[in-house]
Amino acid sequence: MIYKKFQDLQLSALGLGTMRLPVKNGDNGEIDEEKSAEIVDFAIKHGINYFDTAWGYHNGNSETVMGKILSAYPRDSFYLATKFPGYVPENLLNKEEIFNKQLEKLQTDYFDFYLFHNLCDVNFEYYMDEEGKYGLFEYLMQMKKEGKIRHLGFSVHANNDMTEKFLNKYGKYMEFCQIQLNWLDYDFQDAKGKLEMLKKHNIPVFVMEPVRGGRLAKLAKENEEKLRALRPSASMPEWAFRYIQSIDEVCVTLSGMSNMSQLCENIETFSADERTTKAENDVLYSIAKDMMKNTVPCTECKYCTEYCPMQLDIPDLLYHYNEFSFANGGFAVKSLDFIPEDKRPNKCIGCRSCENVCPQKIKISEVLATFSDVIEKSTK
Ligand code: SF4
Ligand code: SF4
Repeated sequence: MIYKKFQDLQLSALGLGTMRLPVKNGDNGEIDEEKSAEIVDFAIKHGINYFDTAWGYHNGNSETVMGKILSAYPRDSFYLATKFPGYVPENLLNKEEIFNKQLEKLQTDYFDFYLFHNLCDVNFEYYMDEEGKYGLFEYLMQMKKEGKIRHLGFSVHANNDMTEKFLNKYGKYMEFCQIQLNWLDYDFQDAKGKLEMLKKHNIPVFVMEPVRGGRLAKLAKENEEKLRALRPSASMPEWAFRYIQSIDEVCVTLSGMSNMSQLCENIETFSADERTTKAENDVLYSIAKDMMKNTVPCTECKYCTEYCPMQLDIPDLLYHYNEFSFANGGFAVKSLDFIPEDKRPNKCIGCRSCENVCPQKIKISEVLATFSDVIEKSTK
């Protein structure tokens, strides 16, 4: 395992994200504890020492399950990160209760790493707190003083303007920042701009979505061939991680590994620093440009689903939309037959509630309307 220096710590360059733990019966809230424990045990035995969870993951159960699993290991043998769920003002007003509950769920007296979760359009105002209504920053600094937080940082999906404003206000207190970085988003979501900004503020970068929710694990045949010609034995996830290794500012790369084979492969990748070259990165960027022509950048974070009055499975519909775009119709249309009629794209009423919370700024209602149209045309 490669280790990265963070202040006086040595963090494993690969961290285990717990947003996509194995589940039972396809229910995101029902974590398969036995399989998750096997994953954690294997990870620890193979040098991973950074574990990242959050209040909202797996409908609130990720923290509870990780607390149970990690309680079997000495507390000083791993680093634990979780986040404050500042998506709604009520949570900020109940910050003390939530923070204490997180300590209880995770069976710990302190967090090694604690983040303002997901700075974005929805919570920018609450986190900036210009009128001093919420006091989250002050509370977290107090927790730090009491030793309950060792290192304070933030994760961000906001645009670079908002990020800069947040950094101008709190930057000197932020010890790390978690951003979405992969070879597709370097340009597409201007992760490049965020990297520059964080460098200017001297803030180490932790990476989320390195394989973009699995999207970069499988490419179109011609694109995979281009990459195989350069590194014949490297898999597509390996390319994604080797790319991240090429970015010097990155400290920990989080991967939400849902099974042992992903975990083994990623641990193998992080056993050696074989970063991609500039020429290889240019090939990746040209593939990215090609890929993004007709698709939407959904990462399946599911932040939007609870806001949909029609209870549509938005990430699933967008997944089908992307498949449709990549495949130019074909089987992707047939696969919609498996979705109940009242949950198909044409049931979107265009209320746009989902769009306010989407960190990827997807115009979901427009995409679903377009999708309905093309399906209708292609099935006539
Ligand atoms: S715009 Fe469509 S998908 Fe979005 S919340 Fe409204 S009905 Fe649901
Ligand atoms: S549409 Fe946006 S909020 Fe919904 S799952 Fe995709 S990325 Fe997340």
